[in-house]
Parts: sequence; C-alpha cells; structure tokens
Amino acid sequence: MKQSIIVKPQQSVLEERPMPQVNPDDVLIKVKSCGVCASELHGWRGDTNPYPRAYGHEAAGEVVAVGNQVTDFQPGMRVTGLFTQGFAEYARARQDWVAAIPEGVSYEEALGEPIACVISGARRTPVELGDSVALVGLGFMGLLMLQAVRLRGPARIIAIDPRREALETAQKFGADELYTPDQVPDTLKMTEWKQLGKKRGVNVVFENSGTQGGLSLAGQMAREHGAVALVGWQQGGPRQVDVELWNWKAISVINAHERRMDYLMDCMRRGLALLAAGKLNTAALISHRFPLSQVDQAFKALLEKPAGFHKAVIINE
Ligand SMILES: [Zn+2]
Repeated sequence: MKQSIIVKPQQSVLEERPMPQVNPDDVLIKVKSCGVCASELHGWRGDTNPYPRAYGHEAAGEVVAVGNQVTDFQPGMRVTGLFTQGFAEYARARQDWVAAIPEGVSYEEALGEPIACVISGARRTPVELGDSVALVGLGFMGLLMLQAVRLRGPARIIAIDPRREALETAQKFGADELYTPDQVPDTLKMTEWKQLGKKRGVNVVFENSGTQGGLSLAGQMAREHGAVALVGWQQGGPRQVDVELWNWKAISVINAHERRMDYLMDCMRRGLALLAAGKLNTAALISHRFPLSQVDQAFKALLEKPAGFHKAVIINE
C-alpha cells in the first residue's frame, strides 16, 4: 500500500509500505479522507525530532478487515476514530477507538479527532444560558467551537480574528459581534480593580489561537469569576500570563485538552450525532482538498492560508 512519509522538513514522499498488521482487537481501514491538522504543522516545517515520520490523525474510511476479537465492527462499515498514520491508503485502529459514521455524513465531514476535541472542550467549559462568550482565534477549531458553544445557549457571541474572511464565516455561524484583535473595545476587557461589578469583559473566553497574543487577550477579556478555556494548542516554549490579574479576577482556567481516551470517544460519538442532526457543520469549513501525493501542498496551504482557507483534507480516490 502507499503511504505518505515526511522524510525531511517540508518534504513528503509516497512510499510503498506493507499493509498494517491487524491484531485481534484491531480493525483495518481503507482510508478515504484525512484532515491536515495545525498540531502537525510544526513537525512538517521542521523541528529537532528525528525524521522520517508518518502523519495524519484525522482519518475516516471503510472497514475492510477485523481481528478475531472485534465485536462491534464488520467490513463495509464507515468509521472514523483516534488513530494515526492516516496519510496512507490503509490504517489500523483499535476497535475501542473507532466510531461509526452516521448515515448522511460524508467521510470528509467525519473528522473524528478534531470533532471530539471540540466537543470535549465545550462540555468541560461552563457556559450558562444567557452568558456572553468570546472566541479568540477562528481557525478550523475556533469556528467549530463557535458552533458547539452556540448550542449551550449564550446570549452574545463575540468573535475575534485578524482575518476578515474568518470573521465573515463566524458571522454565518451565528457570531453577534466581530473584531480583529486590535479592535476589541475596552468595555470587553476587565483589567482594573475599579471595573469590578461593572459588567466589563465577558463570562467565558475560548482561546483557540494557541498564541501568546491570543492568550493575553483572553486573560484580559474574562470578567471576574469568568472562565478562560485554553483550546488552542500552545506549542513552541513557555508562555507568559498575568497571574496577578487572573488571580484577583478569580477566573477559572480550563485546559481544554483531553487525555482520557474513553471520554474523547464519547465526545466523538456525540459530535457525530450533532453532525448527522445538522447542528454542527464541518462541510462548510472544508476549503481545500489534495490527493495523497500532495501532502506537502496541503501543509503549505495550512501555513500560508490562501484566500478562503479554513481546512485542508487529503482525499484518497
Ligand atoms: Zn488534529
């Protein structure tokens, strides 16, 4: 089978590899699509860890074989899940970490891993009916989080991103107010003692950008006893936060990543149910499609974000 291997920074090669071996509790999946994730962008661009590498953890496809202890899946079923090496014709997954794709949901829409992460972050962050909510960073994850948070019933959704078209997409998904980071009005920040009790800032801020700037802004925007959810993947070294400010505002901080695989799978199934019900929409965010032979071009699009970019996926014909 063919697999795309990153042999050195920014260079992938389509290699002939043996079929993955199927253990008793594994399913073998013929990969149909695989999302290209910002969390793997650093590794593609080049870091100090060794190469070659096999990437792709947002795959969906058709079950073509199952191990002799697999009970819930059969060949022919459409699945997504938590498994790696998805930039390939075939991939192996543990049956516990695979979910069926509901009828009416396409392979490319069924981006299991990011959907699970967003649902997990939305479930773990306390959003009450009538809250004001801000989303800092409107990449694919931020725009999906906006949709999930909206289902929690906030009265007011404030969307923030430097890219004009990201703001326009946020508006289509129900954002009430749109700002670039430097346009955020002071009334949406709570940074001084004298502002206590004056309803400055917002109840809940979702930081989706994974940047120092986004983190600082999120900390300023949370109201006293509000919450900041760290959704963006903070990578590339330590960050600075104004703990004095966070401390006296008594804000809650949610590190909205998830290490419990069972919980994540539960979130994935809930997210897929919302997709099938038309209450989450990933299809509108898939802007760029590439064949397996063009993984580098897909990462390049993610890096450079050409006009209209939201999400790139690799599609196997
Ligand atoms: Zn991902």
